[in-house]
Amino acid sequence: MLKYVNFDIVFREVPDEVTLAVNLSCCPCRCEGCHSPQLQTDTGEELTTEIVNGLLDRYGKTITCLCFMGGDNAPLEVAALAEAVHPRIKTAWYSGREHLPKDFPLQHFNYVKLGPYRPQYGPLDHPTTNQRMYRVTASRTLEDITPRMRFGTRFAD
Ligand code: SF4
Repeated sequence: MLKYVNFDIVFREVPDEVTLAVNLSCCPCRCEGCHSPQLQTDTGEELTTEIVNGLLDRYGKTITCLCFMGGDNAPLEVAALAEAVHPRIKTAWYSGREHLPKDFPLQHFNYVKLGPYRPQYGPLDHPTTNQRMYRVTASRTLEDITPRMRFGTRFAD
């Protein structure tokens, strides 16, 4: 089961998007130096399709992207929620995994962030980060757009 703790509108988590980021708990990744240890616990409310649709009804005119922050305890449930709202809104998934689960349905996403937080390599906007931000292309391949996470960096499409 997916549970969410809170949500916020953010501007830097996905390049060029105004993103409603929904923070999911029950994270199994156990990164050293985790920025939000409370997200490793079983806390929050169940995130259902009804709740996600309600968030879009409320914020859909303000945002361009809905991002699931976490959900590594149930990736296919994340994909099912993304399927329910995509392409009504662009979708993104922040995963702490090194790799996507086998046969993960990428067609329901526009962006995927992969990789655990490793303090020695820095966060996602750091030049030496081990994490990767990808854009999902029309042919469902992953385009590495990690350099665009650095503040002030903008690349031609
Ligand atoms: S994936 Fe994120 S929430 Fe989960 S342990 Fe790592 S830093 Fe913490």
